Amino acid sequence: MLSIEDLCVKIGDKEILKDIHLYIDSGETHVLFGPNGAGKSTLINTILGNPKYEIVSGSIYFKGKDITDMPMYERAKLGIGISYQSPPAIPGVKLKNLLEIITNRDWSEIEKMAEILNFKDFLEREVNVGFSGGEAKRSEILQIYAQNPDFIMFDEPDSGVDVENVELIGTIINELLDKNKMPSDRKKSGLIITHMGHILNFMDVDRAHVLYNGIVACSGHPEEILNNIIKHGYERCVECYQKKEH
Ligand code: ADP
Ligand code: MG
Repeated sequence: MLSIEDLCVKIGDKEILKDIHLYIDSGETHVLFGPNGAGKSTLINTILGNPKYEIVSGSIYFKGKDITDMPMYERAKLGIGISYQSPPAIPGVKLKNLLEIITNRDWSEIEKMAEILNFKDFLEREVNVGFSGGEAKRSEILQIYAQNPDFIMFDEPDSGVDVENVELIGTIINELLDKNKMPSDRKKSGLIITHMGHILNFMDVDRAHVLYNGIVACSGHPEEILNNIIKHGYERCVECYQKKEH
C-alpha cells in the first residue's frame, strides 16, 4: 500500500526527517511512537503532500505509484486520508455540508455513524468552530468515515479525549481499518500516532516504529515496544539503535 524509501524532509532550513524507510502492506496498521517534536506529524504531512514540507531526497510510493511530487488533492483522490492532530476551524461551513461533499456513502450511514459517535447535534454546527479537543477528534473521525479512504493516518486521535471516549474512538478506528474482518479480507491500511498507548487496548496493530530526532530508531512488535518505552523511556530506544548501528 505504502512504501517510503530514503526520505529526508526539511521545513525552511531545518532538517526534520532523515533517511526514513517505511513499508505498510495492504490490510496492515502500524503505530508510530515518539516524543514531542520527533517529527511524527511532519512524516504524515509529508505523506499527505502538504507543500510546507520540502522533500530533500527519497521517494514515496502509494499503491505502486510514485507520489513523491504529486499534489495533495490527487493523493486524496488515490485514497489517502488523514485525521489531523489539530484540525482547523472552517467558519461558514456546516459540518453536514462538508460531509455531503466528501462522501459517496448514503446519508443514512453518515447519520448512523454520527449517532454512534454521539455527534448528531454537531452536524448543523460550523466545522470545528468552538469544538473542544475531544469534539474536534470525533468530527475528524466522522469525516474520515465519510471519505472512506484506503490508507488512513491518525495523528494522535486520543489526545484531549475523555477516558470514556477513548474506547469508542479506538473501536471505531479498528473497524475503519478492517480489523474486525478476517486477515485475508482486510483491504484498508493505517498509520496511527499515539503518545499514550491507551487507545491500543481497543485496537489491533501489526507493527510499531519509534521516531526519535527524525530517525526511525526502532521497529518491531507494538506491545513489546510500548512496554519498553513505559519502563525505560525513549532514551533506551536510541541506545539500542546506536548499538545496532555500530
Ligand atoms: P511531533 O509531531 O513528533 O511532535 P512535529 O513533526 O510536529 O513533531 O515537529 C518536528 C520538528 O519540526 C519540531 O522540532 C518542530 O518544532 C519543527 N517544526 C514544525 N513545524 C515547523 C515550522 N513551520 N518551522 C520550523 N520548524 C518546524
Ligand atoms: Mg505531532
